[in-house]
Order: sequence, then C-alpha cells, then structure tokens
Amino acid sequence: MDFQLTEEQVLVRENMREFGKTYVDPIAVEIDENSRFPAEVIQKLGEGGWMGMPIPQEYGGAGTDYLTYAIAVEELSYFCAATGFTMSVHTGLVCMPLLLFGNEGQKKQYLTPLAKGEHLGAFALTEPGAGTDVGAATSTAVLDGDEWVLNGTKTFCSNGPVADTYITFAWVEKEEGGRGMTCFIVPKETAGMRVGAHFAKMGLRASQTSEIIFKDCRIPKDNIVGKVGDGLKIAMNSFDHGRIGIAAQAVGITQAALDESIAYSKQRIQFNKPISKNQAVQWWIADMATEVAAARYLTHSACYLKDQGKSFSKEAAMAKLFAAECSMRHTVKAVQIYGGYGYIKGQKVERLMRDAKITEIYEGTSEAQRMVIAGNVLR
Ligand SMILES: Cc1cc2nc3c(=O)[nH]c(=O)nc-3n(C[C@H](O)[C@H](O)[C@H](O)COP(=O)(O)OP(=O)(O)OC[C@H]3O[C@@H](n4cnc5c(N)ncnc54)[C@H](O)[C@@H]3O)c2cc1C
Repeated sequence: MDFQLTEEQVLVRENMREFGKTYVDPIAVEIDENSRFPAEVIQKLGEGGWMGMPIPQEYGGAGTDYLTYAIAVEELSYFCAATGFTMSVHTGLVCMPLLLFGNEGQKKQYLTPLAKGEHLGAFALTEPGAGTDVGAATSTAVLDGDEWVLNGTKTFCSNGPVADTYITFAWVEKEEGGRGMTCFIVPKETAGMRVGAHFAKMGLRASQTSEIIFKDCRIPKDNIVGKVGDGLKIAMNSFDHGRIGIAAQAVGITQAALDESIAYSKQRIQFNKPISKNQAVQWWIADMATEVAAARYLTHSACYLKDQGKSFSKEAAMAKLFAAECSMRHTVKAVQIYGGYGYIKGQKVERLMRDAKITEIYEGTSEAQRMVIAGNVLR
C-alpha cells in the first residue's frame, strides 16, 4: 500500500475542504439546532459531482476509486457529520448495491440520477424487532401478477423523509418452501408506501430519520435487485461499503475534535499559563493525534483492498469499529479540555460528542463489528 496520496486525491481533499468551509461550516450550528436537512447543500454536492464519486461515469458518477471517496467523506464530516453521513448512506448503501447487483435497466433508471445527485437515496432494512438481528425482519413481498406487494414497517431510515429512491428488504416465500430475504427498489410516492414517525435525535440532527411503512405497496416485478433470496448477501455487501463511509465520517469528527482541542488549549489561560502547558492535557492531545492517524490508516487500508478488488469485509469492520470508538473517546476528551465551556450549546466540541455516538451504533453496532471481525479471524 502506498501511503502517499495521489495528486487527484490531494486535490479532492482540498476541494472538499473548501466546499465545507464555504457552504457547510457557516450553517452547521443552525442545522443541528433546528434539525434541518440542508437540502441546498446536498443539491450543491450533487451539482459538484460529489454524490456518486465511486460510480462509473457511464452511470452518472465521477468514477473515482473508493479511497478518494472516503477522503471526501472525512473532509465533509469534519465540518458537519450529518452532511457527511447523508453523502455516505446515499453512496455506500444505495448507489453501491445498485451498481454491483442491479441490472442495466435499473442502473440507467435509478442509479444514474442518484449518482448525478438529482435524486437522493435511502436504505430501509432495520425494523422495530430486527436491528442487529437482520434475519428477524418480518416484512414480506408477494408476487401478484406483474407486481410485488410489499408489507411491513421499517424504522430508523436515514434520509427517509427526503429520499427519492428507497432500497428495501423483505421476505419472499420461495416455491421450494424456504424463505428468501430479497432486495427491492421503491421509488418515492409509490402508492402504499408512506413515511411514518420522524425521530428527534441526540446528535446528527440535520440528518432526517424516520419510519417507512409499506401497506400493500405495489412495485413492478422488475424492481427486484438481484434474485429472490439475494437480500442478505446484498445487505451485508452494502454494509461493507457503508462502513468505510462511517469510518471516514468518524475520522472527520475526531480530527475536528483534535483541531479544536489544540486551538483552545493554547489560548485558555489558567494559573497564568495556557492549559496546553499541563502534561495531562498534552497527553490527551498526543493520544488523540495518534489514534486519529491510526483510524485514518485503517480506513485507507480497507479502501485500498476494495480498490484492488480484494475482500475488505473484515478491514471495513475494523476501520469502522476503531474509528467510531476513537471518535467517542476523543470527543469526550475534547469537551473535558474545554471545561464548562465545552458543555454549552453552540460549542463545536459539544456537537462533535453528540454526533460521535451514532458512529458506534449504525451500520452495525461496535459489537456487530466485533462479530464480523471474530468470524473472519477465527475461521
Ligand atoms: C440515527 C440512526 C440512523 C440509522 N440509519 C439507518 C438506515 O438508514 N437504514 C437502516 O436500515 N437502519 C438504520 N439505523 C438502524 C441501525 O443500523 C440499528 O439501530 C443498529 O443496527 C442496531 O440495531 P438496534 O437499534 O435494533 O439495536 P439491537 O440490535 O437491539 O441491539 C441493542 C444492543 O444489543 C447489542 N447486541 C445485539 N445483539 C448482540 C449480539 N449477538 N452480541 C452482542 N451484542 C449484541 C447491540 O450491539 C446493542 O448494544 C439507524 C439508526 C439510527 C439510530
């Protein structure tokens, strides 16, 4: 693995940093306080070609490698984790499965507008009784003539209230008697599909999270992704891609916590000297700097394997696990470095700490990542 970024990757990092400074940083506090989805920023990201970075140009994407994409997610998340996540869930959990498992017609009709940023995607897998235990889902799909009829309730769907295209999963009774989890595409405003409860969250408040409810929702027979029974495989593969995005998001959050901690500790005077002159504070900051670098390398190494066409499932889980726990640990420390001021609303470190927590939960909890890693190393 080459530790040197290419010229293109450096340029992408600089461009995304500039984008973040110009369009995201100025509204980050407001969209968090008001739980407002930054539709205007997502539109600009689409216009700039950022919403389909690893998707080939023939399907409306930018045709970059996965590492370049992860660098962009990190930079965007540095300014606003919710905006970085919107880009990540759209790309990793919606565009990627359509690219890898969709047929040519689906790539033209659904993937292309998604990758161009004209449409926004959502991934509806989780159900009230089926979180980590995906197989406990109870949603069903029954073929009736030329249509699938979907029934079930999905919960915690990111982009749920604002998406145009939904990837969802339901059990299909197979002719041979078994049941097959199957993946479907549901366009917004399909009759029988509605957005249910919207969730108010601890952090990541600019990202919109809701239930998606299917009640005799009819979609064309052709809206199946892959084959009947491919659903679990598609979901797990999507998570491999998505987890790299969450790892990059967590690295962005931790880097922001580090930069805030350095700046504040150098200017905050107590006992007639900056608090950065105390060894306790220095050690916290040294640990932050070390672990954010380690989290970034793990994330890049998962990207490297993905870009080489090699298996990267274990490495994506390791990157997500380490980067998420790292972001939680160090955003708590950043609040400590700020003292009482860190506990006050509007302070960046306060938002970073609330945003960091979700990276340990979604796209598989830290415990679920450990299951994936243990399953691989104990084979
Ligand atoms: C803000 C937000 C956005 C989300 N976005 C999406 C989305 O876009 N699409 C989507 O489909 N889902 C989404 N989710 C759902 C998310 O992926 C789940 O919340 C997550 O997978 C955990 O499921 P659960 O909440 O049901 O927890 P549970 O599965 O009930 O787990 C509860 C606790 O038990 C632990 N646990 C469970 N089983 C085991 C085990 N076998 N061994 C050890 N520990 C175990 C878990 O690690 C956790 O600590 C989102 C969730 C949130 C909060």
